[in-house]
Amino acid sequence: MEVEILEEKEKKIKFLLKDVKPQFANALRRTMIGKVPTMAVKEVDFINNTSGLFDEIIAHRIGMIPWEFPEEEYKLPENCECGSKEGCPNCRVEMVLKKEGEAYVKAKHIKPTDKKVKPVNPDILIITLLEDQELELEAKAVLGTGKKHAKFQAAAASYKYYPEIKVNGKKVENSEEAAKVATGKVKNADGSVEADEEIVYSLENTIDIKEGDEIEYLEHKDKFLFEVETVSGLEPKKIVKKAVDIIVEEFEELENSL
Ligand SMILES: [Zn+2]
Repeated sequence: MEVEILEEKEKKIKFLLKDVKPQFANALRRTMIGKVPTMAVKEVDFINNTSGLFDEIIAHRIGMIPWEFPEEEYKLPENCECGSKEGCPNCRVEMVLKKEGEAYVKAKHIKPTDKKVKPVNPDILIITLLEDQELELEAKAVLGTGKKHAKFQAAAASYKYYPEIKVNGKKVENSEEAAKVATGKVKNADGSVEADEEIVYSLENTIDIKEGDEIEYLEHKDKFLFEVETVSGLEPKKIVKKAVDIIVEEFEELENSL
């Protein structure tokens, strides 16, 4: 197995995964979406709410806020030594929110006891308070996974087969470049025209194609173009690494149980 990173940004990573079966690529994708733990608020206790919104709506909004957190310091409640019934500092973060009078109440106004826990976007609006209104609550955040609830989803992840381009029957060395040039005039194996902008990657140098060249578009079934965008407090690269760890752990568990 080989990995080549094509593009890395704060929220997004694109990489090539080579010499693997489609089943593995799919397992990796599913693990990134559904099994990498992230942090979200699970419980909200309202002390005072004289705002225009019901408790349930405010609790739901707070629940959807993604949090940055020190990954090594927290455990999934089900894996914590405390048994997770009441929770403990290893599997739970307490938070408070208190605001009164005219104000936009935002994610940054929620104060976690652990200073390393921060909202990914501090300006997410929770509610607008009017002059005589007040909101006071306590919340508990825990780790969870996307397969349990969408609010814990770590990333949006997808992949496609790596494209290979042939011009007049000859394989083009860098097919991604060719894909770029050939956009809109690439023929699929079945003769249909491929105009998918997404196979086009931002490369400067392109191959030379003349009018009337016969261009073929093929896909590698053992080479995958991955695109992973974080929707949580985890960096995209960390999500990929964590997903690989989880897959390895699952196989170890299987091996041990055999
Ligand atoms: Zn615990």
